[in-house]
Amino acid sequence: MSQTDHTQLEQQLQTMHLTAIRQTYVAAAQQAGADDWSYQRYLAHLVDLESQRRERNRRSRYIKEARFPLLKELADFDFSAIPQLHKAEVMSLAEGHYLAQAQPIIMVGNPGLGKTHLSIGLGLTACRQGQRVRFYTVTNLVNQLQQAQAEHRLPQLLDKAIRYRLLILDEFGYVPFSTSGAQLLFQFCSALQEKVSLIITTNLAFSDWVQVLGDERLTSGLLDRLTFRANILHFVGESYRFRQQMQQQQTN
Ligand code: ADP
Ligand code: MG
Repeated sequence: MSQTDHTQLEQQLQTMHLTAIRQTYVAAAQQAGADDWSYQRYLAHLVDLESQRRERNRRSRYIKEARFPLLKELADFDFSAIPQLHKAEVMSLAEGHYLAQAQPIIMVGNPGLGKTHLSIGLGLTACRQGQRVRFYTVTNLVNQLQQAQAEHRLPQLLDKAIRYRLLILDEFGYVPFSTSGAQLLFQFCSALQEKVSLIITTNLAFSDWVQVLGDERLTSGLLDRLTFRANILHFVGESYRFRQQMQQQQTN
């Protein structure tokens, strides 16, 4: 192949965003020659590299799009610190069947026990399985819902939310809602029911949800939707960081 042909090919590959092929076709051609590959095998090899590159990019784009506040991995979670939580149950959730069935996961327990960590860990796992995920604190979500309503674009926001496979709503219960906020959250969860998986983390027992939602009927409606087919994980114990600090002090 002449230099001009190479330059033209590289330009075309660049224009067509075939980055992996552009980077590897020369070396692969040498390998193909040395190992006596067929033309089809050479082409298949290049296409495979390109599709792997795209898949990797898609997954890292999903991780960026999810807007996790921190990147916390399931692998870094110390299950021995919280014996009531069964590692096998969490790992089986991580396989992702709950996503296919749009089942909710509710993580209940006191602060510092790793609910946010595990919700992000499951979120990252889902992104790596090629699923679209979005992380919100509940307060942030309700603010966005209120703003969308004020600007008459609530339907668009709901349409967008339905395109995710998993929404993580962190910290339900820390801040009480206004009447309109509670109604919007209810509307949001109803619209997503059986379509998108929700992971909700909360420090509140179900019996206390009415305190932040303010209305008995709305609370029971929301609980009815969220707990239907839900996986409920209870986090019991003492704050992980607090315990670690105590342990450090004891060894010093
Ligand atoms: P919660 O959301 O329940 O309040 P977080 O997930 O924010 O708790 O956890 C507080 C901090 O402690 C985080 O830095 C988290 O990574 C860490 N942490 C909590 N539990 C564990 C655990 N079992 N293993 C490893 N890190 C943990
Ligand atoms: Mg948290």
